Amino acid sequence: MPNIDELSAAEIASGVKAGDFTATEVAEASLDAIDKREGEVQAFLQVVPELALAAAKKCDEARAKGEELGALAGVPVAFKDNMHLVGTRTTCASRMLENYDSVFTATCVQRMLDAGATPLGKTNMDEFAFGSSTESSAFHRTNNPWDTTRVPGGSSGGSAAAVAAGEATITLGSDTGGSIRQPASLCGVVGMKPTYGAVSRYGVVAFGSSLDQVGPFGRSVADVALAMNALTGPGRDPYDSTSQNCPVDFLEHLDDPIEGRKVGVVPALMEAAGLTQEVKDALAGAIKALEDQGAEIVEVELPNIASAIAAYYVIAPCEAFSNLARFDGVRYGYQEPDCLSLAEQTAKSRAHGFGEEAKRRQMLGAYLLASGVYDKYYYPAQQVRTLITRDYVEAYKRCDVILMPAAPRTAFKFGEMSDPTQMYASDMFTISNNIAGNGGISVPIGLGAESKLPVSAQLQGPAFSDRRLLQFARAIERAYVAKGVVAPAFAGKGGDLA
Ligand code: GLN
Repeated sequence: MPNIDELSAAEIASGVKAGDFTATEVAEASLDAIDKREGEVQAFLQVVPELALAAAKKCDEARAKGEELGALAGVPVAFKDNMHLVGTRTTCASRMLENYDSVFTATCVQRMLDAGATPLGKTNMDEFAFGSSTESSAFHRTNNPWDTTRVPGGSSGGSAAAVAAGEATITLGSDTGGSIRQPASLCGVVGMKPTYGAVSRYGVVAFGSSLDQVGPFGRSVADVALAMNALTGPGRDPYDSTSQNCPVDFLEHLDDPIEGRKVGVVPALMEAAGLTQEVKDALAGAIKALEDQGAEIVEVELPNIASAIAAYYVIAPCEAFSNLARFDGVRYGYQEPDCLSLAEQTAKSRAHGFGEEAKRRQMLGAYLLASGVYDKYYYPAQQVRTLITRDYVEAYKRCDVILMPAAPRTAFKFGEMSDPTQMYASDMFTISNNIAGNGGISVPIGLGAESKLPVSAQLQGPAFSDRRLLQFARAIERAYVAKGVVAPAFAGKGGDLA
């Protein structure tokens, strides 16, 4: 069995199919890597060896019977802990759901399993996906595999870190304002937020329902494309009314040349306040790499994008307030004991079940939706949303994709962003895409000259141009690495069964 750190998802699946090694050996190698590395990384909230080994065994038995194996045969995967998987808890990294057992399996999770993947467990996150550093998890922090004194980003920080540390080959996250693309950038892995509706959200605990989207992390663009094939497909999920028919093979045009294609850049974003010099320099390199492959760079404007964060922090808390109202201590999750009235039970269960940021968001949402206040904030925020969506439509008349930073700076230290509004600014380049419902992907472009930490470029595209995004991301990747890498501190430190 070759070193699992060096195998792509496609290589694992083809190796299992060819009988070069078994899914059980792969599962054991991954569990071994988790054993060795998890002490330093803490990417997982729950590891499920029994489920992993049972799935691997099923895969090996299917092969022995001559059955056709799926595209993810034996590929070790993990899921953000807001996704239901029967046999695991789904905690959303909250005390509120600390003991909540999944009663069904999310469609996105099921699709990965149906493609033959091996489930390793559930990954850490910011509580209910509120945050950009995974620090608001009620249980523990997750360390960035490139520098364990720094955050992995968030809110899908555990999923990004698990891939960067070589603990899982593919993981899933959710992205409401940047929670896949930003941690992918901070951890030096590829992370994709598909177009709103491309992937079913059935069985994923809702945060902002008009913004949430599930997507994959991988060490390479090809791994992410392979996962996209499993996650999407012909036909809509009858359990998610926002899911769309998506009968696309994401691998089909992956390596097509980008010669003559147009890449938009927004000058105001490339000079945005808060963007560090090393990120600017790295992006200049990515632009050059695309030009060298024959792409034409065109300047485009997104005139209303400066209002995106403000609009998001009205719309998202309002939706979160509405979605989290169900956690009232009656039906789901934590219930305060010994209360004398229902009102007392609800108040105390919520007061003790939720952490600080979850409370802040819900109080903000409650306030913003109050009569009299609603007209002042929620209504204009929705108007700004329309303006931003139209800005993108105009911009995409002039280019195929837009290139911009994924995050303003590389991974920061724990506790460094003590003011919540500072943290909110981490998503200054990602949020507008959720507002417009479009797809986006972050792809590593080397290390910052000063910090020596991963920097990524972000590509955004029109709705349902996800295959094109992967193709351009692959073009960038081609210029940097032949194949995804595990963070150097972890590469080869475990999981080698040779
Ligand atoms: N950081 C943003 C927030 O805190 C986005 C989070 C996300 O995409 N889940 O809301």
